[in-house]
Amino acid sequence: MNHGQTSTDVILIGAGIMSATLGTLLKELAPDWNITVFEQLGRAGEESSNEWNNAGTGHAALCELNYTTERPDGTVDISKAVKVNEQFQVSRQFWAYLVQHQRIRNPQDFIMPLPHMSYVRGEQNVEFLKRRYEALSAHPLFQGMEFSKDPGKLREWVPLMMKERKGEEPIAATKIDSGTDVNFGTLTRMLLNHLKEQDVDIRYKHSVKKLKRTPDGLWELKVKDLSSGVTQRHTAKFVFIGAGGGSLHLLQKSGIPEGKRIGGFPVSGLFMVCNNPEVVRQHHAKVYGKASVGAPPMSVPHLDTRFIDDQKALLFGPFAGFSPKFLKTGSMFDLITSVKPHNLLTMLAAGVKEMSLTKYLVQQLMLSKEQRMEELRDFVPGAKSEDWDLIVAGQRVQVIKDTVEGGKGTLQFGTEVVSAVDGSIAALLGASPGASTAVHVMLEVIEKCFPQQLEAWKPKIKEMIPSYGLSLEGNPELFQSVHQATSQALGLSEAKPQAVSVS
Ligand SMILES: Cc1cc2nc3c(=O)[nH]c(=O)nc-3n(C[C@H](O)[C@H](O)[C@H](O)COP(=O)(O)OP(=O)(O)OC[C@H]3O[C@@H](n4cnc5c(N)ncnc54)[C@H](O)[C@@H]3O)c2cc1C
Repeated sequence: MNHGQTSTDVILIGAGIMSATLGTLLKELAPDWNITVFEQLGRAGEESSNEWNNAGTGHAALCELNYTTERPDGTVDISKAVKVNEQFQVSRQFWAYLVQHQRIRNPQDFIMPLPHMSYVRGEQNVEFLKRRYEALSAHPLFQGMEFSKDPGKLREWVPLMMKERKGEEPIAATKIDSGTDVNFGTLTRMLLNHLKEQDVDIRYKHSVKKLKRTPDGLWELKVKDLSSGVTQRHTAKFVFIGAGGGSLHLLQKSGIPEGKRIGGFPVSGLFMVCNNPEVVRQHHAKVYGKASVGAPPMSVPHLDTRFIDDQKALLFGPFAGFSPKFLKTGSMFDLITSVKPHNLLTMLAAGVKEMSLTKYLVQQLMLSKEQRMEELRDFVPGAKSEDWDLIVAGQRVQVIKDTVEGGKGTLQFGTEVVSAVDGSIAALLGASPGASTAVHVMLEVIEKCFPQQLEAWKPKIKEMIPSYGLSLEGNPELFQSVHQATSQALGLSEAKPQAVSVS
């Protein structure tokens, strides 16, 4: 393979789950297209997509309380939960297609069945959870959800959380067995390996420094080979900026007007991890609680069983924190150098508006291990400090932009595809719900950037994702059939292990 300058159809910047997903989709839709991937690290899936840098929750809104809101009349709005669930079904269908067609193998290496639970304390929260359960369990996408405030039942579901629990405070939980734990790092590497077998040119330790339009409408990238120090120029008809936290800077360098007046606000994450097998075997679920007042939605505390490298571990967090870096391996100047004349007012407005958030993040960063253990003891009253270690997870760069509803400098918590009007370049910003919805988001990139090819590609997309273009909410039979088929293909329908109660 020629490792000099290239002129290709597609360049993907970054080897995280987003580029891996887009590359895999494009290889199915246009097998003849040449694709090149540039990744500045030595391996795929080493930044946010790495298994230790995110929580590995297959976000299907089965347990995350922040995807439902309480209306003033006390009823519960589940529309966002339905949307997130539908998006996760799209991922499941694509992953199942890839397994069935031997593009990737051994799904148990990247996805495991795991009950998803919501857990609350206090009379008012218990009441809310019950109303939320009633709204969700009546919906076809959330069937099988159970609710309980009976301590006996809860001991059966989450023995570790009930052990040594004292006091009269009411608690309650919901549980649904169709949840998953996803190892996005392994999945990313599986997809990149598959792309390599399809002759995709993947260059690690290659950092994209600059990009500009050429007079003939192509994109020219200046890419530095970090091993040799040599900088080369590479051109492509289409560029996807899937650089995670690095995407905003590259989007700004592209100079496209759609990338103006957008800023980024980094939020870092820390987890507590427990590898003591005696403790680990007493818990078998992802249990999401309620965010504390003033906390951003992505710092909802949760206690998760994780399956990483054939080992089970427990993860608790995330504790939010503030760091000016946009990537875990980024620079302390990332935040300041992202401020440009065109986004200065937006950033200043956000700075004023989000003063309390910044204060909250700095406070979180200052917590001692014992203070973090106290938060964990809300979930696991008997948790011992010696069983838990602190690990640094990935950085999330939240999008800041001017919106009609929020005004100037509004912090966004979702993901955003920003693309040029001619569809020749697209960037992905933001990180929530994140990797779980990678397939849905990358289909959005395809719809925005390849409108001429879309009609011809639709039959293939429907073959890979049978629900494409349809609402599963409106087609419960289709939901049943895709859910069953994907459970089978991904090995999610077998008998599930229970948590072991140790008295
Ligand atoms: C603490 C935390 C918890 C999370 N929990 C979950 C969860 O439970 N479930 C979920 O679905 N999502 C979760 N997410 C979000 C999820 O991890 C991200 O949305 C997802 O991994 C982003 O993938 P990506 O491919 O866009 O970015 P990344 O995985 O960060 O990949 C970007 C790649 O681009 C490379 N790069 C950057 N700049 C350049 C350059 N100039 N040249 C070449 N390469 C470059 C980087 O090295 C990196 O490898 C979490 C995130 C965090 C931080």
